[in-house]
Amino acid sequence: MTITGKTQLLGVLGDPVAHSLSPVMHNAALAEMGMDYVYVPFTVKPLELARAIAGLAAIGVQGLNVTIPHKQAVMPLLAVVTPEAKAVGAVNTLWRTEQGWAGTNTDVTGFIAPLRPRQNWATATALILGNGGAARAVVAGCGQLGFRAIQVVGRQAQKLAAFQASWAHAPIQPSLTVHGWEALPALLPQADLIVNTTPLGMSTTAGQTPLPAEYLALAPATALVYDLIYPPRPTRLLTLASETGLATLDGLEMLVQQGAAALAMWLQQPVPVDTMRQALVDWLDRPGQ
Ligand code: NAP
Repeated sequence: MTITGKTQLLGVLGDPVAHSLSPVMHNAALAEMGMDYVYVPFTVKPLELARAIAGLAAIGVQGLNVTIPHKQAVMPLLAVVTPEAKAVGAVNTLWRTEQGWAGTNTDVTGFIAPLRPRQNWATATALILGNGGAARAVVAGCGQLGFRAIQVVGRQAQKLAAFQASWAHAPIQPSLTVHGWEALPALLPQADLIVNTTPLGMSTTAGQTPLPAEYLALAPATALVYDLIYPPRPTRLLTLASETGLATLDGLEMLVQQGAAALAMWLQQPVPVDTMRQALVDWLDRPGQ
């Protein structure tokens, strides 16, 4: 691409940010669309966050993604936070307004996107493993899809109680219960959707799985196992789920769709989702990955 005097800036703020795949998919889409924009990574230390977003506004950056560890910390620095982001308690996408930066959370849209076309989830039960940041987007997404029951499994009773309490006044009111890991054998037979939001199975723990095969065998034959992790593709969890005969979904589509939602918001026009997905697949399939 050619950077011109009119090239506009988009980017992602995080620390670390070197592992982010967002520049790959956004720049592929911008090139395909012939837009005079470039999307760049910005490493920003927590103590510099306020100065960074003020400075990026001052130099006319058009839109930002926000990733670990800034997704919560950025919220008080924004002029507007959407109800969806407030419910999740985290922001991952910023755009400019006359009052200052506005923020929303497109992880919810990304999580829902591959689920919505599959079936009507209104009578379904979701079983969510883990109760960290991604689990919040998953709960909000399941709430939007109208799940009858949302069961969250975690390993720390105090954190689980705080997680449940945090939804009491949320604009999205899911029917949420929280459980320790020991409840899994009783919960799995009712689970229509099983979502892994723990990091178990990521490259540093590749080969590990939050659920062993004998637990997966307890799930209904029609259950869908959704692992937010990418790569590896597939994770150990998804390999075991496939071997058990269960349908599977990995986290790549969530990543693509949260990015596509952000880019469409910044550019105010439809974006080439297939190009974004293919750019990521090609990047992840490079030799040595
Ligand atoms: P996080 O805030 O650190 O939460 C991780 C959760 O997993 C916590 O509840 C943690 O429990 C639990 N956990 C960690 N290690 C565990 C273990 N050994 N056994 C049982 N539970 C364990 O992380 P996050 O931001 O939610 O991200 C979680 C995963 O989702 C990551 O793999 C990330 O890559 C993925 N993700 C994917 C997408 C996507 O677009 N596909 C988007 C966001 C996140 P404690 O609270 O007890 O520590």
